[in-house]
Parts: sequence; structure tokens; C-alpha cells
Amino acid sequence: MLAIVFLVTATLVAPAPQDTLSPAARRVLADVRFLADDRQEGRGVGTAGLTRAGAYVRDGFARAGLQATFQDFAIPPDAPAVLHTTLGGVATRNVIAILPGTPGVGALRGAVVVIGAHYDHLGLGGFGAMDPDSGARVHNGADDNASGTAALLEIARLLAHRHPARTIVFVAFSGEELGTLGSSYFVQHPVPQPVDSIYAMLNMDMVGRLRGARLLALGAATAKEFPALLDSLNTPARFDLRASGDGWGPSDHAAFFAARRPVLHFFTDLHEDYHRSTDDWDKINAAGLAQVAQFVADVAWTLANRPGPLTFVDAPRPQAAAGGGSGYGAYLGTIPDMTGSPGGVRITGVRAGSPAEQAGLKAGDVITAIGAKLVANLYDMTDALRSHQAGDTVVIVVKRDGVEQRVTAVLGKRGS
Ligand SMILES: [Zn+2]
Repeated sequence: MLAIVFLVTATLVAPAPQDTLSPAARRVLADVRFLADDRQEGRGVGTAGLTRAGAYVRDGFARAGLQATFQDFAIPPDAPAVLHTTLGGVATRNVIAILPGTPGVGALRGAVVVIGAHYDHLGLGGFGAMDPDSGARVHNGADDNASGTAALLEIARLLAHRHPARTIVFVAFSGEELGTLGSSYFVQHPVPQPVDSIYAMLNMDMVGRLRGARLLALGAATAKEFPALLDSLNTPARFDLRASGDGWGPSDHAAFFAARRPVLHFFTDLHEDYHRSTDDWDKINAAGLAQVAQFVADVAWTLANRPGPLTFVDAPRPQAAAGGGSGYGAYLGTIPDMTGSPGGVRITGVRAGSPAEQAGLKAGDVITAIGAKLVANLYDMTDALRSHQAGDTVVIVVKRDGVEQRVTAVLGKRGS
């Protein structure tokens, strides 16, 4: 997932011992282990490790029984996250596999369901890393996003020998961590049909840390039919499913939403290893990852065979989500509720020793303003923090138990 400014506290995950895992869980774990091995160098754009990972994904699609191809593109030098790097013009590739729709199923045949996951990560850290002081340690990105890539391969295995009405296109994207570059390229050069024929796009980014069966389906508000459809497939109570939100998230689905396609982003939520060198395979909940893959396969299959159109629901593009931004601004140290809350950003806690803790912010507070900026959602909050520097003193307005309160925080330095 693209860099977002929030940090979260530790949540212990106790992965099941490997010998008790189901065959599906073993398969996804094996894929995560390969992709998130040190040998893959953190899958940074322009590395031999990312090239190896791409070849692994293509071979995985082929072994599942699908035709797989590379979609080569060059990293645009003017992308905001690329400007201060040497990555402009560097060659990279999406990996695409196609499961053709069934001839003769009339209208359904002309449409495509895209299932995607990015397979690149941060390499040795640097841009986007939450631990800039980690030096040259490999950022393996086991959850971000070897997990989604492994789920993508598993869904290919689950569906490859079936015959959907609509075509299903599997895409492993590159360049996500540099600003959803692979998905943006795909939307401009869609395969095998024009972008208007995309019925829906399902994105998996960070799906390897299922805790308490809590699965987020962000983007559920992008088609009127999504909430009921997700609900009907989430039986018998497979997940504590939180389906909500528009399609402007910090990951590949946003590129499709910008092209006015219905999208869903499956996500098992943030954790303290997010964008750190500690996002390793041994913290992956393999059984949970296999369950997410099965669920997304069911959603994809239902969408690929469902008669009738989806009713797209647009939403205005938030300011801070537009350009990928520059830098990460100042550090506050709150733990936001990623499922959103009306009229502000509800926090579920603060990081120990953080400016937020020192200012007296508490779990349950709803932040409505930071400094001069009103905060209606996570984007506003990101924006507000980006407009400040470490050392700035800001007044933060919160609603606590329905009562407006003001606290003063001295913002810190990110990564400290
Ligand atoms: Zn990421």
C-alpha cells in the first residue's frame, strides 16, 4: 500500500504452526515466503529481485493453467514520488493472466472483472519507509504486498478451470509504492478490452494479517449493489466484514475508480510493521490469507456471472489522494479507525511516547481540526500533517464523549 502517515500499535498475531495448515494455507504461505525472501531485495522497482518476483508470478499463473504475459512500461520521470530518485525511465512490468469469458453469453461476454494486487515493495526502504533510519535493511513487504500477490495466485488456481460468463483478468501490478504507477498504466492500456468494459475491479493490498476475522472491504460504496452482494457471500459469518467507503484509497483500486469503475479493496488493516523492515513472512496469518483468497474468489465469481449492470456511485477526489503528495509531514502518533467515522477521524489509540500521547489524546477521540485545517476524513488529516514540520505546535480540536475539546501538541519527526 502507498505510504500513509499513520502509525499503529502492536497487535500480536500468532500464526498457526505450519503442520496444522490446510493445503490452501500452505500454498499461499509458500508464495509469500518466496516473494518476501531477502533474495528478492524487497522487490524495489529496478532490482533483479522484482524481476525474479515477476517471473515467479507469471510462472504461478501458468502453473494454474492460465496464459500469462508481461505488460512492460517505463517509470514516468514526472511522477511525484519519482522526482527525487533515479528511477525515472526505469523499465518494469505488470503481469497479466486472462481467464476468458464464455462465448455466447451475450451481454456478459463484453465485460471484464479485474482482480489485482501489487507485487512491488520498498526495496531497501528509503522513500515511503516508516523507518528511514533502518539503513540498508531489506524491506520484505510480506504483508505489503506479498500477501495480496499470493492471494491473487491462489484465486487463479481456484478459478482457472472454471468457465465464467464475463472474462476475468488477473493483474499483478508493479510501481504501486511509487504512486500506483502500474495500475495507472493498465487503466491507460487495458488488456484485453477497453476500460469501459471493466465491470468491477477487486484489489487486494495487505491481506495477510487477519485478526479477529476482521476484514475490510473498502470501496463498498462505489456500486449500489456491493453491500448486499458482499453480505450474501459472507455466510455463514466467515468474517467480521466492514464494508464501506468510496474508491479513493492509497492503492491500485483508486486508478480504476478514477476511470469511474466500481472497485473493492480487501484489507486486513494496518499494523506496526507497515512499511518497516519487520514486515516479514513469519507474521503472516496463512490460514486467514487463504480464507481471504477464497472469499475474494467467491466475490469475483459472483460478479463474473451476475446478470445486469452495477450501479456506479462516484465520489469527489480528496485533495491529498490526488498526487501522491510529497514527503510525510510531521508526526503525531495517532492510531486512526480505518473504517472511518462521520465528521472527523476517530482514533482507536495513541502510540506510546508520541506527541499525541503527550498532548493527552485518547482512544475514542474524534479529531475535527489540526491547526488551521478542518479534518473531515483521513485525507484531510494527512494533508494537515503534511502542511506542518517537526517542532510545530498545533491546536488539535477533538470531540470527546460528544463534547468539543482542544489540546496542544508539539509535532514530532516521522520515523523517530
Ligand atoms: Zn505499501
